[in-house]
Amino acid sequence: MKIPYINLGLQHQKDKSDILAKISELLDSGMFILGDEVRQFEESFAALCQTKYAVGVANGTDALMLAMKSFGIGKGDEVITAPNSYLASASSIELIGATAVFADVRADFNIDPSEIEKKITNKTKAIIAVHLTGRPADMDAINKIAKKHNLHVIEDSAQAVGAKFNGISTGNLGDIGCFSLHPLKNLAAIGDAGIITTNDKKIYEWLLKARTHGMKSRDECEFWSLNSRLDAIQAAILNIKFKNLEAWTIRRREIAEKYIKAIGHFVQVPIENENEYSVYHTFIIQTKQRDDLMNYLAEHGIDSKIHYPIAIHQQEAAAYNKSAKENYPITNQQISQILTLPVYPELSDEQVDYIIETIQRFFTQ
Ligand SMILES: *Cc1c(COP(=O)(O)O)cnc(C)c1O
Repeated sequence: MKIPYINLGLQHQKDKSDILAKISELLDSGMFILGDEVRQFEESFAALCQTKYAVGVANGTDALMLAMKSFGIGKGDEVITAPNSYLASASSIELIGATAVFADVRADFNIDPSEIEKKITNKTKAIIAVHLTGRPADMDAINKIAKKHNLHVIEDSAQAVGAKFNGISTGNLGDIGCFSLHPLKNLAAIGDAGIITTNDKKIYEWLLKARTHGMKSRDECEFWSLNSRLDAIQAAILNIKFKNLEAWTIRRREIAEKYIKAIGHFVQVPIENENEYSVYHTFIIQTKQRDDLMNYLAEHGIDSKIHYPIAIHQQEAAAYNKSAKENYPITNQQISQILTLPVYPELSDEQVDYIIETIQRFFTQ
């Protein structure tokens, strides 16, 4: 049996004819940027997160940059984030001229609130709380620290669409939520796309201008800003695919539960606290025999990945950053032990069983 890490072709099988019909309709209409499809998607997305507003943008990295800029964060400011995330959680900070400061994570791969407190200075303006793997970060503790030190809380929810903490959706757990709709995310366009959620009308109105050059009308520019809009075609496809999200999430959770039951005594598996609802963007196990297991799975046709083999603070691009030179023992230790198993909804039960049996055989033979 051959099991790829992801199968995006399969994901679109059911909706393919609807998508093609929609693209054809949009081609005739000539409506390519923003417009009704984008508005409709923003409404659906805000309803999902139960936020007042959602603003479609070009990608998740722009979403993070615009979110920070909406609070006036820039040169001379510091923003605290996790070193084990996808690199955009930190590059976005540096790209707006601010400085990324890292705080180590806990066993759950999410930022450790007590480490955040140690990194706060008089320059700190915000915390980027990443919900890595689709499991929500400890938002009670993070919001408490933010309140105490008067900081903004930005959720990097790129991996956590539909996840919940205390029954509240990600994107509605801090001051502003940032999502990527990149092809590999749980809800995905067929190219780059992103969206920002907020309950603040002023921020919402600023974002509407900020995603389109800072223009307040057709001809008047209020401030220099990015060109970062959601394409009508991507929004239209997202509107079609959005209907599957709940079922996809349920299937991801079903596969995760199977893994947890069947291999939990051989490897460290993710857990879910009672107040959490994880969406398993990735299913990451930990074992000291990671490299051998990864090779063994490959020999048996199973593709697995490492998210991420190089931490952000270890990247060449971060070499000049003072905080990158510090030690992040939990992140460093996890890097040698983490392995991501396929967990996409299109996996058949037979494939999941085969992955489980192969892992069991590795540990018992
Ligand atoms: C994917 C991702 C991003 C970046 O999103 P893009 O749409 O690729 O720009 C940011 N943060 C995290 C945690 C991600 O997984």
